[in-house]
Amino acid sequence: MSSETVQQPARQPLDRAVDLPVALPADRMVVDGVDVLGSLSPSRASDFMSCPLLFRYRTVDRLPEPASPDAVRGTVVHKVLEDLFDLPAQDRTPDRAAGLVVPAWEQILEQAPEVAEMFGEEGPELGPWLASCERSLTAYFALEDPTRLQPAERELYVETLLDSKLLLRGFVDRLDVAPTGEIRVVDYKTGKAPPEAFEAKALFQMKFYALVIWRTRGVVPRMLQLIYLGSGEVLRYSPDEHDLLATERKLEALWAAIVQAQESGDWRPNRSPMCDWCAHRAICPAWGGTPPPLPDPEPPVQQATDGLTPEDVD
Ligand code: SF4
Repeated sequence: MSSETVQQPARQPLDRAVDLPVALPADRMVVDGVDVLGSLSPSRASDFMSCPLLFRYRTVDRLPEPASPDAVRGTVVHKVLEDLFDLPAQDRTPDRAAGLVVPAWEQILEQAPEVAEMFGEEGPELGPWLASCERSLTAYFALEDPTRLQPAERELYVETLLDSKLLLRGFVDRLDVAPTGEIRVVDYKTGKAPPEAFEAKALFQMKFYALVIWRTRGVVPRMLQLIYLGSGEVLRYSPDEHDLLATERKLEALWAAIVQAQESGDWRPNRSPMCDWCAHRAICPAWGGTPPPLPDPEPPVQQATDGLTPEDVD
């Protein structure tokens, strides 16, 4: 890799609740000697589809967002479900999983001591919150038997460069590969399954990963599986090539819209029920606020390779 090449990030424990940076159109990135237009992860793509202004605040301004108990619960639970498969199959029990909760929490605290601030006067108490992590894991065992599974990959970083030179990248929670070579992509959510009308939105992230895997491994994943621990439900979908080509076209169109917003500076707010969870309402014109001036562009290589930005993905 050249010095300008984007480094493949290693996901750290706290990074479950964060996402990869996005390179914007004005930037220049080089991946293995190829100039790329920019990069997108499923979460950033989802941000723009939900609210272009939210995308701007997270990706262009990179405004900090406070850690939320729900997001950090997701981090802890994902860490435990990752570590669980390091144990011998017969030891992957609910008790052993519960025993991994506090070490996972302590690891997060060590890396980001500020997350402790979410507990206390207005936040939850630590003890009940840790118990809620254990409840998510109990729900997991009702949906899958990890003693009968041996994942091929966990927390797998994936990326692919489309013909248009748009880089797609992200982390897959778990990849299962059958002896026949069939691939199952698994994602854990600590929240509840969406109503049927919103399933397509939930599956978009999975189709994104399926597209990347198809492009890199030459195999269309046989199954996309979203495991919702909050409601004890599993959403499954078998994609085909037409699905993934449609996903690719959608991502290209999305990127074109991002480029247009970047060039025009017109990042429109999209007021919706999601605003109730938005950390930026005070500076959102849809709620009477005023956006800050757009930041000066950073040197491209720095933007392409620096740290991860906070986000709740669960
Ligand atoms: S408050 Fe709502 S409209 Fe405003 S930036 Fe956040 S999500 Fe978008």
